[in-house]
Parts: sequence; structure tokens; C-alpha cells
Amino acid sequence: MAEAIVEKGGVINKVIELKNFIGGKFIDSVSGKRFENRYPATNEVIATVPESGREDVEMAVESAVKAFKVWSKMPVKERSKYLMKISELIMERLDELSYLESVDVGKPIRLARGMEIPRASYNFSFFAEFAKYVHTEFYETDDRGAINYVLRRPVGVAGLITPWNLPLVLTTWKVAPCLAAGNTCIIKPSELTPITATKLAEIAAEAGLPDGVLNVVHGFGPNSAGEFIVSHPDVKLISLTGETTTGQAIMRTASQHLKKLSFELGGKNPNIIFADADLEQALDVTIQSSFSNQGEVCLCGSRIYVERKIYDEFVERLVERAKRMKVGDPLDPETDMGALISEEHLHKVRTYLEIAVADGGKILTGGKTPEHLPEKFKSGNWLEPTVIVGLNDNCRVIKEEIFGPVVTVSPFDTEEEVIERANNTHYGLSATIWTNDLSRAHRVASQIEAGVIWINTWFLRDLRTPFGGMKMSGLGREGGIYSFEFYTELKNVCIKLQ
Ligand code: NDP
Repeated sequence: MAEAIVEKGGVINKVIELKNFIGGKFIDSVSGKRFENRYPATNEVIATVPESGREDVEMAVESAVKAFKVWSKMPVKERSKYLMKISELIMERLDELSYLESVDVGKPIRLARGMEIPRASYNFSFFAEFAKYVHTEFYETDDRGAINYVLRRPVGVAGLITPWNLPLVLTTWKVAPCLAAGNTCIIKPSELTPITATKLAEIAAEAGLPDGVLNVVHGFGPNSAGEFIVSHPDVKLISLTGETTTGQAIMRTASQHLKKLSFELGGKNPNIIFADADLEQALDVTIQSSFSNQGEVCLCGSRIYVERKIYDEFVERLVERAKRMKVGDPLDPETDMGALISEEHLHKVRTYLEIAVADGGKILTGGKTPEHLPEKFKSGNWLEPTVIVGLNDNCRVIKEEIFGPVVTVSPFDTEEEVIERANNTHYGLSATIWTNDLSRAHRVASQIEAGVIWINTWFLRDLRTPFGGMKMSGLGREGGIYSFEFYTELKNVCIKLQ
């Protein structure tokens, strides 16, 4: 691995200069403008990044359109070989990529190394394999002497727009099926976490991916690279993971050209714990579903509902576990929770804590900057894992997505009541149910309005399954064949037999 940008302890060694990747070349933005990327643990600059404009997007689209002509016609088996190679190269660079993801997001390196980078690699190997077995339909129209068969074809150039919380996982979750299906792409990573997308471009080049198949354009969202990608007439499909309001803005811009859209958006996910659940297990997993990645995971269960019989015990034990979490240096393998992504985001999360108190909520633990942090980290974006009780369901803290290490816990009495309360939100991404009553588990799962439901577990993913949200949490599904539904277009061919 090259010289570290940041050392354990937070000392910055150097500032790296990132570039766009267009048509197989690493280049600066046409305007030459750059913006700064900071280490969340100290808020010091670790990278400068090209601020791309319309001309840069134009160049990327041109190269992706050109590459599409070749890539879309390449046999699936050939395309799969490239994806498999990328998967292998990601694992070869496991240490480097985990380190960079930890530094860019401020997340614990243990999480990046143990889960995210291996998963980014698996996204490629999974879709490389899956693509070989995707089939289409055939219909025999026997009363009319005809047959119909369905051809599945790539769509064209895709704009893949990603957030900052799980950068490489979410980028590869889009890039792998997009390329496997024969499309070419332009990636626009979050301005806050541009590093691993740039590394992915390096890996693609090393894997010999033809020029222009994968492009990376850095910049901002509105009136910048993101919006210029969405509004470009030659970009035929847009996959976004981000906030609901961003989905709405993109939908407005994309409507002009009726683009295909896939949105994975915000959530305010209920975590329902019945009295018959295995409490120890529910607590172990709830700590993760509450505070993993500083609570900056769209699937975090931020509204915890606990059956009244076990409410006091559950709260006491949850608080005890939250207090035991090790918050600190992202690069320390022992760290459970790192820094929040930015000062602005920390401010937003803290504002919700003020609202909670004003609305009569009680912060049982957390809500403050951890006291034990070394001097070097005092300028970073820190917050202790926070547990709030005593709020009613209509207050903003229970209704709105906070996207930080903050959970609310509320008691409930009956199954009907908790289903209604869980559904009392305009989001519908995921839900977790803890019970040992099989019938109840099925009953509740079928009535909860969410695209992904876990029973007695959390974050367990099989990449063949449909992933996405209901209501304001998304549009469409990705995963397995559902990704191919999005990244391909179907064409029916009808033949009248003589
Ligand atoms: P944002 O919506 O702010 O940004 C997501 C991406 O969209 C960024 O690259 C951003 O650019 C870009 N963008 C913003 N506005 C526009 C626009 N008008 N046109 C084109 N692109 C635009 O989300 P965050 O990065 O803050 O991520 C957090 C959000 O993501 C949370 O709401 C979370 O729930 C959601 N999320 C959902 C997941 C899911 O699977 N459902 C998974 C993970 C996160 P830039 O920021 O650089 O300006």
C-alpha cells in the first residue's frame, strides 16, 4: 500500500489529488476547478477533487455512447470475465480499499474490511455469474399459428449516482449489473466520499475494461455534474441511492426525456420487539441495527417499538450496551463507531436532539461529544450513540429520517397497535420483527409496509432477492433478476408460422 494519507491517531501525511476517469483516461475537469474532501474524524483536508461541469459530463457521455456500441454486442461470457477480474482485483486490494473507505467516511475500518469491501467484490462476482443465466420468455400463440419470443437488450448509457454512507458497496451494487447487462456508465459519487469510486476506475483500467465502459465524473448534485448527467438526452437510465428529496428532484429533471429510473431512498425503519423474542439476541442485533456505521445506513432501525411487558428491561439493557460501545479512531480495529460524515450533518443530527428534548423526550444515553477523544479528534464530527424515550409518534424525531446514531424506543401493547404505528410514516424501506411466534411473524410481516422485512435478524442479504423501498423510500427494485429488469429493455418478436 502507498504512503498513508492519514495515520492512526489522525495525523495527516499528505493530500491526494483525485481525477475524473473519462474514456479510459484520468483527467482534470475542463474548468480546472477543485473542491476539498475532508477526514470526518478531524475535518482536515485529505483530497482535492475535480469539480466537473457540463463539458466534463458531455465528454463522459460521448465516450460511454461510443463504448456502448462495442460493449453491448460483446457476448455475455466475455463481459462476465471482465467483471470477475474486477471482483478479484478488489479483493487483492482489500487492505488499501478498506483503509480508504474508513478515512473517507470516518467509519470503523473493521466494518469496511469485514463487510463492505468483500461485499463490493461480491457484487461483481455475483452479477458476472448471474448474467450468464438470465433468460427470457417464449409464448406459443397456438390459436393464431404464431410464436412470440422476448429479447432482452441493454438500454444504453446509465447515470449511477451514489451517496456517501457505503460508497463502494453502493457504487458496485449499481455498476456490476449495469455492465453485466451490456450498458455503459457514468458514476457520480457523493462529493463527500469520492475516493473509492476513483479507485474502482483504476481497478477497471487494470482489468482491461474497454475505454469508456466505466466513467467517473466528480462534482456536486444540483446544477452540477449530477444534474447534468440526469438532464443529458443520451443518458437513458438513472439509478440513484440518496435522499427522497433528491429522488424527487431527479424525477422532475428526468421527466423531460422519460428516462428509466431506479431509486433507493431514505427510510425511518421500525424495529419491533415482541415479549416472546430471544431478548439477548434481539439486543445484540439491535445495537448493530441502531448504530452500525454511526447509524448512517438507510436500513438502520431507528424507531424501536418494544412490547410493554419487557420494555423496561429492554431499555435498560440497550442503554447499557450503547454505553459500552467504543467510539473513536476510525482506523483502530477495536473501534465500534467512528465520526459522522460532516459538520453539516452533525449539526442536523444535533438539531433533532434539541427537538426531541423540546418535545418532551428524554435522552437516556448519548447526545454528547464523547469526552475521552484525544485532542487531535476534537475538531471532528462526533456524537455518542444516543437512545431517546418518552416521545409520541407524531413528533418529528420519530417521523423524519435522522441518519445518525440516534434511536427512539417506545412501548406498545398489542400487535394491531404496533403494526399501525410502524406503518404511520411516509417511508417504507425496511422493518425488523423479533418474535418466536411463527404465525405472528408471518402475520406482521405481511402487513408492514416496507420493501425489505427481517424476522429475528437484520442486514442479512441474498443478492438474488428484490431490494428497494415502498412509499417514499424508493422506486423499483434491484438485486438478481430485478436489477436486470431495470438495466435491460424487453423486445417482443412475433412470428406467424406458415
Ligand atoms: P443525497 O440525496 O444528498 O445525495 C445522493 C447523491 O445524489 C449524491 O451523489 C449527490 O451529489 C447527488 N445529487 C443530489 N442532488 C442531485 C440532483 N439534483 N441531481 C443529480 N444528483 C444529485 O444523499 P446523501 O449522499 O446525503 O445520502 C444519504 C441518503 O441516502 C439518506 O437519505 C439515506 O437514507 C439514503 N440511502 C438510501 C439507501 C437505500 O438503499 N434506500 C442506501 C443508502 C443511503 P452531492 O452530494 O455530491 O452533491
